[in-house]
Amino acid sequence: CGIIGYIGDRKACDVIVKGLKRLEYRGYDSAGVVTGNGETLDVRKGAGRIDELTEKLGFLEMEGNRGIGHTRWATHGVPNDINAHPQKDCTGRIVLVHNGIIENFAELKEELLKKGHVFRSDTDTEVIAHLIEEELKGSEDFEEALRKALNKLRGSFALAIVYADEPDKLYVVRNESPLVLGVGDGEMFAASDVPAFLEYTNKAVFLDDGEYAILTKNSYVVKRIDTGEVVEKPVHEISWT
Ligand code: GLU
Repeated sequence: CGIIGYIGDRKACDVIVKGLKRLEYRGYDSAGVVTGNGETLDVRKGAGRIDELTEKLGFLEMEGNRGIGHTRWATHGVPNDINAHPQKDCTGRIVLVHNGIIENFAELKEELLKKGHVFRSDTDTEVIAHLIEEELKGSEDFEEALRKALNKLRGSFALAIVYADEPDKLYVVRNESPLVLGVGDGEMFAASDVPAFLEYTNKAVFLDDGEYAILTKNSYVVKRIDTGEVVEKPVHEISWT
């Protein structure tokens, strides 16, 4: 399973499909991509191999300079097109991918169902999108809603998230599942593992458990999930050989 995220000036789908191929060694049963500039998000996903899906769903025709990609190793819900990531909230404006397991997803899902949320998949992952949507009600602050939602999750989660209303940002999260940032010149990357972006930059920032990051094409900031405090992180230069 794996995650790749990109924000910059390149065609995001090119970086994402290449990155997913480099993460294939980690194993997977399904894959998906979301890209978009502005407020329209294009989500394409399915069960199967990356090459097959690229052909069938046209991953390489997707427009936009920011996006995320995912390979899934199913833990909750069979491998099929609906359970493939990205998963969304009810509005379709919060779109995310996840590696790991949300241990308390059943309780969270029950509460969200009572509040009227409609679920499309059998994944534990979809709960995260709806939980953020719920926290965002009556608030304009996506980051704060995200942090509140993350503080309710138990388990392992590497996440990459796009929010339609914030077209120049990409959010990523790490807790007991790997996530590393790639710092480029006017572009930022995030992935489960360095080889996914090493072709473009060798500057890596490794998130620790309990941290999230906000990426724009020219900046990144890492914060703690529990307090929201900024964490200063070392930048590692990875050798290309
Ligand atoms: N638990 C999630 C699911 O089954 C994510 C699995 C993964 O790590 O790829 O959809």
